[in-house]
Amino acid sequence: CGIVGYVGPQNALDVVLEGLRRLEYRGYDSAGVAVLAGGGQATAKKAGKLANLEKDLADSPLPESTIGIGHTRWATHGGPTDRNAHPHVSADGRVAVIHNGIIENFAALRAECEAAGVEFTSETDTEVAAHLLARVYDETPPGPGRLAEAMRTVSRRLEGAFTLVASHADEPDTLVASRRNSPLVVGVGEAADGTPEYFLGSDVAAFIAHTREARELGQDQVVEIDRHRGLTVTDFAGTAVEPHAYTVDWDA
Ligand code: GLU
Repeated sequence: CGIVGYVGPQNALDVVLEGLRRLEYRGYDSAGVAVLAGGGQATAKKAGKLANLEKDLADSPLPESTIGIGHTRWATHGGPTDRNAHPHVSADGRVAVIHNGIIENFAALRAECEAAGVEFTSETDTEVAAHLLARVYDETPPGPGRLAEAMRTVSRRLEGAFTLVASHADEPDTLVASRRNSPLVVGVGEAADGTPEYFLGSDVAAFIAHTREARELGQDQVVEIDRHRGLTVTDFAGTAVEPHAYTVDWDA
């Protein structure tokens, strides 16, 4: 239901939780976060209000990180439980995914993953995207943009409505996101020390406290946000496209 992502110099968890609070007005039944730290994914997810998640995080803090994602869920497939909350992590623990919408063909894709030996841990339509992305990533030639290329390959196979955001432990400075029939906005800002910072949101409320410079993704597009290389947007075939740039003019 609500999506937030952050890459920049600030504490990612603080930025992501603040973004999720600003998206609470949309309604949700669970919440979760993932940050990249120490060469892996660190996640926390919880049914109920954001305050439940924050209590868990206070009891068992995640490692410090400057790249992270967060989600508030409105369950469509699988009840509102801790396990079904997003992010969903691939079986190898390297990929974390959050998702708004419904992946209509998830049952066929899930059967395909299960036939290949993948064990699922939730009842969601979303989890299949994490496993597929991990497998496709391994089959994608190494080099800059590998995760974005894997996201394009996976996106071409998904039917329905999705805003997907993913990170991979092997690309600790990168977030990728994809959209079809579901909104996705990128915020481009500058931290107090002048370092560039980037935000992802299901709407601009997710990052309005930090920047008003927005880039709206079009239908069937993938964005890569890389701490060093900046912002790259393509269609699902990989052709570069220029996202619609605008300045948010309402008050936070
Ligand atoms: N269909 C997904 C689920 O049930 C995502 C729901 C949402 O948009 O929050 O987990």
